[in-house]
Amino acid sequence: MTDAVITAHKAKHLLSHVLVVAAVRRWPGVALGESGETATGFYADFGLVRVPGAGELSALTDDMARVLRNFRTFRDVKLTPTEALRAFHGQPWKLKQVAAIAELEARIVCYELDGFIDICECAIKEPRELRALHPEKFLLTEAHPVAWSDRGSLHPYARISGELFPAPPPCECCSP
Ligand SMILES: [Zn+2]
Ligand SMILES: [Zn+2]
Repeated sequence: MTDAVITAHKAKHLLSHVLVVAAVRRWPGVALGESGETATGFYADFGLVRVPGAGELSALTDDMARVLRNFRTFRDVKLTPTEALRAFHGQPWKLKQVAAIAELEARIVCYELDGFIDICECAIKEPRELRALHPEKFLLTEAHPVAWSDRGSLHPYARISGELFPAPPPCECCSP
């Protein structure tokens, strides 16, 4: 991988975390779903009844920039399965992830960003990695409904997606 590709990957990945943190502050208690990279950007799913409009995406983009400008803590946290079940109480998608990981591992590897904890095994949980992101070189561009299927029932989520600027070359390893 070239340096540019590595930098784009880190940015897309970290921005998916920043999106989740900003959304949890905007919509306290919102159900969390999948999140991660797209070919040229990042996304995260939220259990919102209504898909956010353009104005809300713009406000949430500003919230993300604020998280990047003001954060103090970004670090690796390892939870026991019991601690993780407590940490993700009320988050059905997260609890499923915890159960799946706990079958294989003794610890659930997470990040903490200013008091918010989420599951992720990435190796870039350091303040300097977040500081390397420019707070104005991304934008939330789209929101559309998705469904999470669990034991035969469908749960409505809204997928919020963003893009980096300037746009990196589309990446083949990150599914669109
Ligand atoms: Zn991560
Ligand atoms: Zn990729």
